[in-house]
Amino acid sequence: ACLGLWHAHLYREGRSWRQKLERALNDDRLTVHYQPIVRLSDNRICGAEALARLVDFDGTLIPPDHFIPAAETCGFIGQITRSVVRRAFTDMAAHFAADPNFYVSINVASEDILSLEFLDFLETETRSHGLSAGQVALELTERSTASEDSLTQAMAAFSRRGYRILIDDFGTGYSNLAYIARMPIAGIKIDRMFTQALDQQAIGALIVSKVCELAAGLKVDLICEGVETEDQAARLAVMYPGMCVQGFLYGRPMPAVPFSRAFAAVDRRGP
Ligand code: C2E
Ligand code: CA
Ligand code: CA
Repeated sequence: ACLGLWHAHLYREGRSWRQKLERALNDDRLTVHYQPIVRLSDNRICGAEALARLVDFDGTLIPPDHFIPAAETCGFIGQITRSVVRRAFTDMAAHFAADPNFYVSINVASEDILSLEFLDFLETETRSHGLSAGQVALELTERSTASEDSLTQAMAAFSRRGYRILIDDFGTGYSNLAYIARMPIAGIKIDRMFTQALDQQAIGALIVSKVCELAAGLKVDLICEGVETEDQAARLAVMYPGMCVQGFLYGRPMPAVPFSRAFAAVDRRGP
């Protein structure tokens, strides 16, 4: 009986998320916030991560941790990713135009990476917004469940076309290092769990320094998430001066307009 009730509960919840997501997408109530990504060596902004939010009927924002897993199971994730791409390309237009090295980082699900239609969509959008593929990074969480071989092959197709693939939440999954070394990745994002352990536990510093060595060995970019204090930033600068950082110390995720006000596009197109 308990099992039956539990199944009924799961079914009801799944159905209510499906309806909620369907209505939100039809009403165009998906919005995107942006968090700056900063180069530690000169404190300059080098990109922004696009983070999805759903606007509820009363205007409250539903955080992605609530609706992204539901969107993955209900089959809406592809639609959400495409919507985030379109918005981010439009919202960040001034930054892209001013700085050819500015990039936007989009969170993708393994389903997106495994889809050739998504690659075609991305290329069409990149071209129609006058961007280069190098101005787009795709963040794939290390906890993806798809098979390693099929993911590696699919990632190669994106990286051959110039898109930068980043492994997100590094350290929270179970990937073996040989697998990471074989993947066509452009960078690693260290999970904030380790950043936050930097000034509390010796093990935090040890893990971050090992990931720094790994990134240097693989010659890939390193981005550290969840930097909240000057002390953490100072420790990271000693460990790996070339890394980029992201966290509340530099800016919380915010809508496009305040983002552009706080981080004005600076012309770096050269002479
Ligand atoms: P994530 O990709 O690891 O994104 C970073 C999360 O950490 C964001 O939460 C951000 O607000 C938060 N954060 C950033 N700096 C700090 C800090 O200094 N301290 C702390 N405590 N937190 C910080 P958010 O926006 O709630 O997103 C949660 C997760 O939802 C993301 O984690 C990502 O996995 C997923 N997500 C967000 N947008 C999308 C999307 O468009 N598509 C997909 N597939 N997933 C998304
Ligand atoms: Ca991310
Ligand atoms: Ca992350």
